[in-house]
Amino acid sequence: MSQDQTRFIFITGGVVSSLGKGIAAASIGRLLRARGLSVQIQKFDPYINVDPGTMSPYQHGEVFVTEDGAETDLDLGHYERFTDANTSRASNVTAGGIYNAVIRRERRGDYLGATVQVVPHITDEIKQRVQVVADSSDVDFVITEIGGTVGDIESLPFLEAIRQFPVEVGRRRCMFIHLTLVPYIGHAGELKTKPTQHSVNELRRIGISPDMVLCRSESVLSTEIRRKIALFASLPVDAIVSAYDVPDVYSCPLTFHEQGVDDFILKDHFGIDAPAPDLESWRAIVERAAALSDEVRIALVGKYVKLEDAYLSVAEALRHSGIHHDCKVKIEWIDSETVQQPAVTALLSEMDGILIPGGFGGRGFEGKIAAAKLAREHGIPYLGVCLGMHVAVSEFARHVAGMPGANSTEMDPETPYPVIDLLPEQREIADMGGTMRLGADPVRVKEGTQAHAAYREGVVYERHRHRYEVNNHLRKQLEAAGLVFSGTTPDERLVEISELPREVHPFYVASQFHPEFKSRPDRPAPLFREFVGAARAHRERGARAGSLEADAGSLEANGEVGVSRVA
Ligand code: GLN
Repeated sequence: MSQDQTRFIFITGGVVSSLGKGIAAASIGRLLRARGLSVQIQKFDPYINVDPGTMSPYQHGEVFVTEDGAETDLDLGHYERFTDANTSRASNVTAGGIYNAVIRRERRGDYLGATVQVVPHITDEIKQRVQVVADSSDVDFVITEIGGTVGDIESLPFLEAIRQFPVEVGRRRCMFIHLTLVPYIGHAGELKTKPTQHSVNELRRIGISPDMVLCRSESVLSTEIRRKIALFASLPVDAIVSAYDVPDVYSCPLTFHEQGVDDFILKDHFGIDAPAPDLESWRAIVERAAALSDEVRIALVGKYVKLEDAYLSVAEALRHSGIHHDCKVKIEWIDSETVQQPAVTALLSEMDGILIPGGFGGRGFEGKIAAAKLAREHGIPYLGVCLGMHVAVSEFARHVAGMPGANSTEMDPETPYPVIDLLPEQREIADMGGTMRLGADPVRVKEGTQAHAAYREGVVYERHRHRYEVNNHLRKQLEAAGLVFSGTTPDERLVEISELPREVHPFYVASQFHPEFKSRPDRPAPLFREFVGAARAHRERGARAGSLEADAGSLEANGEVGVSRVA
């Protein structure tokens, strides 16, 4: 489709936040892709931060990193996993980013003396950010999710901009979808449509009439309730969709399809004749995920484990890997500050795998070192991501390579062995936002290593987000002690992957980059896939050893004590 034919879908939310607009947008994206159409999804966030890069994971959840190195909202991860299309810097726009651009232009004098105002200057900038996605990717559909809830003061400029948008491109090229909540009131035994009614009215007051209403509810909405909502929303009943709770978010595109969402969007709304959907591979994944026969337990040792969204892509990559290996991955969320408590150490030693994800700052770092040591000494599969690699390297340096007190200078600037140190290009940087090494870079993977067995390729592209790296001055010493640097930048200047040889440990691999960002339900990130495979093998070895012990125990009980345990 040429650019002047791109269609625009705007998704707004009402009643309360956290209803899953991101999943809804991603699911619609998946459906359109399944109908042979190309899609880009973008998210508008009404907060003043220029991007979420500097926000605490407790405020915001994970920071998702795009190929081109933008630090973005975690919904972009959903978009990529559902549509299998990479997002970009243009896919996440915040109010702060918009104001920043407008104010910079004002300082340059670009407005030629005009008074700079929310309307038209801020709203024009917002509209331009929608158009930029259409122009740069030449897609059939741009889906724009507006963060926040209708009625918020903050999201008003965004809503005003999307209200204006059809004036420029034509109403027939635009669609407004509104996501609301239909709560169940227990003591009345009823689903209540009133909040949806108010929310649709609020949207109308701003000048936007929704073309479709997605209703979140605990259970499926009856036709009667949908009809009631249709009536007050002035919509056909087919435009009222029951977005009921499902155990697996990956089944949302299927439940939407069953209710004719893609047909309504394409045929009824836009008048597009698209091929029948190909949802077979997606359905296969959903069915496999629901029927996993096995289970592995992975400890995720981090600082923000009280908010699982802080590690969303890591958890998803583990899930994808589990689906690949036909086993459910049960994550034990371990607060790194508790690792040295005896009960937690005991729990960790029973795990099938230990994963240390990315992180910043010293709190809990020693707990992570203890967890990595335990994994190394007990032959428990280990995967370290970014900070998790700094942990693995520091631990190895201290306890194997004879460098007591070895550390990352992020944790201890005075360490006698700064095995992890600032990237040289980071030394002069004072600003915190957007200044790390960010985005996809090539990684050369050394043949004959665990990493190469995972990737089966000599050069791969993975996404980064860090300031610190393995210190080249101590690299040789670490290698001499047995640590293998199985991935580097193509010029070998930076270490990208570290591991222990297979003869020493079944799986002890850590990467400077974040493989989780590129994991897809049907294509798990290779290092995660191999890690979960190793965890499963570890559990089976344990089970075998356990049953051998039990056999030997029962033989002993039978008086056949002469039989060796090492059968
Ligand atoms: N804090 C470390 C650094 O800046 C690791 C970053 C991360 O884990 N994403 O290098």
